Parts: sequence; structure tokens; C-alpha cells
Amino acid sequence: MTNYSEFFNPEKEMMSRQQIEDLQLERLKQTLHNCMNSSFYKKRFDDIGLSPEDIKTLDDLRKIPFTTKQDLRDTYPFGIASVSLRDCIRLHSSSGTTGNPTVILHTKKDLEEWANAVARCLWMVGARPEDVFQNTSGYGMFTGGLGFQYGAERLGMLTVPAAAGNSRRQIKFITDFGTTVVHAIPSYATRLYEVMQDEGIDPYKDTKLRILAIGAEPHSEEQRKRIEEMLGVKAYNSFGMSEMCGPGVAFECKEQNGMHIWEDYYIVEIVNPDTLEPVPDGEIGEMVLTTINREAMPLLRYRTRDLTRIIPGECPCGRHHKRIDRMKGRSDDMIVLRGVNIFPIQIEQVLMKFKELGSNYLITLQTDEVNDSMTVEVELGKLFTDDYTRLQKLTKEITSQLHDEILLIPHVKLVAPGSLPKTDGKAVRVKDLRKHFC
Ligand code: ADP
Ligand code: ZN
Repeated sequence: MTNYSEFFNPEKEMMSRQQIEDLQLERLKQTLHNCMNSSFYKKRFDDIGLSPEDIKTLDDLRKIPFTTKQDLRDTYPFGIASVSLRDCIRLHSSSGTTGNPTVILHTKKDLEEWANAVARCLWMVGARPEDVFQNTSGYGMFTGGLGFQYGAERLGMLTVPAAAGNSRRQIKFITDFGTTVVHAIPSYATRLYEVMQDEGIDPYKDTKLRILAIGAEPHSEEQRKRIEEMLGVKAYNSFGMSEMCGPGVAFECKEQNGMHIWEDYYIVEIVNPDTLEPVPDGEIGEMVLTTINREAMPLLRYRTRDLTRIIPGECPCGRHHKRIDRMKGRSDDMIVLRGVNIFPIQIEQVLMKFKELGSNYLITLQTDEVNDSMTVEVELGKLFTDDYTRLQKLTKEITSQLHDEILLIPHVKLVAPGSLPKTDGKAVRVKDLRKHFC
């Protein structure tokens, strides 16, 4: 017997594959029709002699050219919009550290649908109106702030818009207001725990925490398990990106085995990043997303640069929306060191297995004489010892396990807890100081 109370929107969440695909085709056609009001897409289609009527099946989507971050920059600020600015009520913008920032516009309906998607995610993992929800994301342009805020309100929880930083105050809110559900990036979740330790607060006894939404940056399964154990919560992976609204794109269900991507909002493709041809389910490639439930600024076949795979098979939770695996990283995050391709997450996976280590680490790449090398600095855990022989043995063991994983021998340095730099936002894991000889 299906328990409808497990679903925020049973009608959409319980659709069969056939129903999902029928709805996708209908929404795709509507989206293409809207896109012809965008000067950018109109020209794109005209240039290759494509018309929305040529898209008759979901497979025909492949006739449409990809949209890239560069396209968003080139048309900055409003060049891709499919509606007039008069119909938009909010915009979000990325930081734009490299080149022009990017802008995403939203109509009233876009914001409504975004809130519904986030509420659906939070409900799926057991959040209910009687919960108290605290958001540790920065508000403002960063979509993790307002995105979760409106979603949590839509669900009906009491919300604590604490915003980023000031960990002591966050913890006071958690204990005073009886916070049960928190949204945090993984690096900040571990930071909160460290500060709780300093303050003598035991999350198991002194708080009511039970659910954590963690996302916005890559993290390993080992990191998740650690965070769950530290804070006494169930932690669910949350994937989002500003170009796709923000949070609410894909979220883990209670099975904690892959994130359901909401296919009534997005069409997902996984392609080989070099050939741009589709890869079979189960294989890793670049995720490409098409928005099919957005008015102001639909994006067609947007190249996310994020590497993941579709998890084959059915999810026991009963939802047929496809599941994407934990992100392997962004294609731009890949380190190429002496011809070997390495993702920072591979290093994290190894480090997090060592109970003696804390959660903060930094990978530095540099050129020594002529060769490039990697140094991995990692903080020791609170109970660290200063027994030289034991530390030496530990360093050797970590080096050997990293060698097995990345096929290169890094310099491993164990450093005191709290000594590596911290950021309020997403963690910076790699510092590249290499001299690039052309
Ligand atoms: P920016 O591009 O400035 O980081 P966003 O806030 O839009 O701005 O970040 C979106 C990106 O964050 C995604 O493309 C992805 O690389 C990363 N990301 C978001 N959620 C996750 C997650 N759950 N796991 C791994 N990476 C994530
Ligand atoms: Zn599921």
C-alpha cells in the first residue's frame, strides 16, 4: 500500500516512466515555443534552420545545440530572456570571478515552482511542518539562501534564516529554538561540530537536530558518514546550481543512494565531455540539463560541467525520477599532474577513512626544480597526539593509501586542528602554484 503522506506532490512524484516522458515532451514543446521569444535562441535556431516543430520526440532534443556558461556571459545581463523584464520579479547572479557574471531571471511562477521543488525535497527526507528549519547559507545572490528559505516556508516549517557564518550564534539558535533540520555545505557542517566541541555542546544531548541537507560542493560518502556521526543526524545530498534556479534540482531520498532529479522540471542527459555523444546509463559523463518548467529564462541543453552518472535500476522508495550519483567533481576541477588525472574527491575519500584525522584538508600543487609535485596538508582530529613515532607511522600509511588511489606519491603533512584556512562559503581544496612552461 502506498503511503501518500511520504510525498509532497504525489501526482508528480509517483508518475510512471511513461507518464514522466509524456509530460516531458509536452513541456519541452511549450518551452521551445517560449524560447522563440528569446533573441538568443531565435537566432540559434534560425542559424541552423531548426524550428520548434522539428522536435517531435524526446530524442529530437539532440538536434538542439548546447548552451554553455560562455553563452550566458556573452549575453549578459538579459540577452537569453524569453519574457520581458516587466514579467520578472527577481534575478540571481553568480560571482563572476572570471569574466562577466551570469544572470538568471525569474517570473512569479518560476519562483513558485522553485519553492515547490525545494519543499518536495525536504518533505521526501522527512521534514514536516512541525520541524524547525535553520539555513546556514548566505542570503542574497547565492541561491542556497532564498532557495531553501522559500522551500522551507512552502513546506510550512518554522524557519530560522540564520544566514552564513557566526558559528557561536548558529549554535545558540540551534539549542534555543530547538532546530531539527539544517541546511549547510559539508565543510560548514564539520565546522559547526568543531565549534560545538569548543563550547562543550553535545549535539546528541543538547540539540534536537535530526536532518541535514548538505550540498553545493562535492563531498565523499566517507565525509557524509562522519558528519552524520558527529551531529547525530541523517544527512542528505542536495544538488543545485544557479543556472537551474538553485537548490531543488536533485536530492537524495531516504534510501541515501543517489539523488532523484526532478524530471518534471528538467530533462537530464549524460554525455561524453569530449565527443558530446550520450553515454549509457551507469557510465560517468558530463551532465546536460534542459529546463522544461521555467518561463523567464529557459535553458536548452545546458552543459553543467559536472561529472556524474545515472544510477541504473529502480529506487525502492517508489519514485521513478532518475537518480544521479554523487558528483565526481566538475570537469574544470580535475587536476592533471604529471599526466595523471586526479579529482580532489579521490583524495578526500582516502583521508576521511582515518579516524585520527579532522575534516579539513588542502591540496597544493607546485613546481620543484622541474617536476610538479603535490602536497596534501590535513588537520589532525581533536584527540591528536604529539607522539612523533605514531605520527610518522600515520603519515606513512596515509601516503601509501593515497599512492594506491591516485598512482602518484604526494607529500603528506599532518597539521594541528584549526590551522588550515577556512572560508565562509564553499571550501577551497586546491591551490595550484605550478609554473606553467609553454
Ligand atoms: P558556482 O558556479 O559559483 O559554484 P553555484 O552556486 O551555482 O555557483 O554552484 C553550482 C555548482 O556547485 C554545481 O555546478 C556543482 O559543481 C556544485 N554542486 C552543487 N551541489 C553539489 C553537490 N551536492 N555535490 C557536488 N557538487 C555540487
Ligand atoms: Zn528514491
